[in-house]
Amino acid sequence: MPVGTQGTIKGLTNSQLEDIGCQIILGNTYHLALRPTSELLAEAGGLHKFMNWRRAMLTDSGGFQMVSLLHLADITEKGVTFQSPVDGKPMLLTPEESIQIQNRIGADIIMALDDVVKTTITGPRIEEAMYRTLRWIDRCIEAHGRPHDQNLFGIVQGGLDPVLRDICIKGLVDRNLPGYAIGGLAGGEDKDSFWRVVAQCTGSLPEDKPRYVMGVGYPLDVVVCSALGADMYDCVYPTRTARFGTALVPEGVLKLKQRAMADDTRPIDPTCPCMVCKNYSRAYIHCLVTKDAMGSQLLSYHNLYYMMQLSRDLHSSIVEGRFPKFVCDFLSKMFPEGNVPEWVCNAMEVAGIDISSCCTFSERVCNAKVAGIDISSDCTLSSSCGEHDSDNVSDKYDELKLKLERLRNNEDALRR
Ligand SMILES: [Zn+2]
Repeated sequence: MPVGTQGTIKGLTNSQLEDIGCQIILGNTYHLALRPTSELLAEAGGLHKFMNWRRAMLTDSGGFQMVSLLHLADITEKGVTFQSPVDGKPMLLTPEESIQIQNRIGADIIMALDDVVKTTITGPRIEEAMYRTLRWIDRCIEAHGRPHDQNLFGIVQGGLDPVLRDICIKGLVDRNLPGYAIGGLAGGEDKDSFWRVVAQCTGSLPEDKPRYVMGVGYPLDVVVCSALGADMYDCVYPTRTARFGTALVPEGVLKLKQRAMADDTRPIDPTCPCMVCKNYSRAYIHCLVTKDAMGSQLLSYHNLYYMMQLSRDLHSSIVEGRFPKFVCDFLSKMFPEGNVPEWVCNAMEVAGIDISSCCTFSERVCNAKVAGIDISSDCTLSSSCGEHDSDNVSDKYDELKLKLERLRNNEDALRR
């Protein structure tokens, strides 16, 4: 999903977005509530009509923006308190208000307000945020005024702790929501922790409901998370990086500002059939980038086209039963030397995708156990892994089980 912060995908018209093949865009509730305001949007018949967008739309809860953009945001049981950027007065966004605002905006998918904490934070705050997220989902469900035409997604929190994630997943799944998001990632955690959380969540969330990894948008991350079972993503990356003069290409990125581009008459990506690659040269875009709005518009168009094409190819490869080949083709273009990052190799192993033909990484270590994913029955690495048959691992599982039990016993008390 391209991110249209304030009812626009910066620099692109709706018909261009339709040409590119965007089926759904994301609007930021926090920004929309400040300007043009949700009341005005309701009067205009919702954001679809206001911006003349006929396809699907998702709005976030507004909480993440407050926590990430405003230094003075404070989270209590009531909601998120913050200083209004308009007049400096203290304001409170409750789960009920977030849903009411999103009801007025009228997106097809709306997100529950969650207690967002950075994944790099450790300690009891993570546990508190997870239980609060579960308490808030009930307030969101209760406040939802349009359950028949807007799908309310819950957000799995719990930081990097598999036990907390597990409790949150069970709590949300019990509420039988139309879709589920994996929150609190893409916030500076290391890549191994990142994919393990995704693998654990997609492994437990219902297969017949959309599973949305929030804030993820690097092409490599999208491919890895899809291999692990995720369905939806959003990120400002393709359009933001375009504004800084960077194009997404199968080999990685192409920096149009570089001097070498000044006399390069080739298109951004000779294999890309998009409008920009058909009509403009690297040299022309080099002249425009960061100097003229047209530069970022052309690059945004190409980058979104690239992401949409990647998503379509990925989807059709799954439908046609050739996803492993798709992954290998993708990786061999991005890493022609075979130097696929170790975390990608580990993730693909858990996903059951053999990438040995495009990857030279041979010192394989089985890491599934760290995510609490038991692959001992089909782990083929027993000789190099040496983990699954050791007492050490069963001790760790027992420890995890005990911790889970203890937390569940505490759950009722904490929820009160
Ligand atoms: Zn292109």
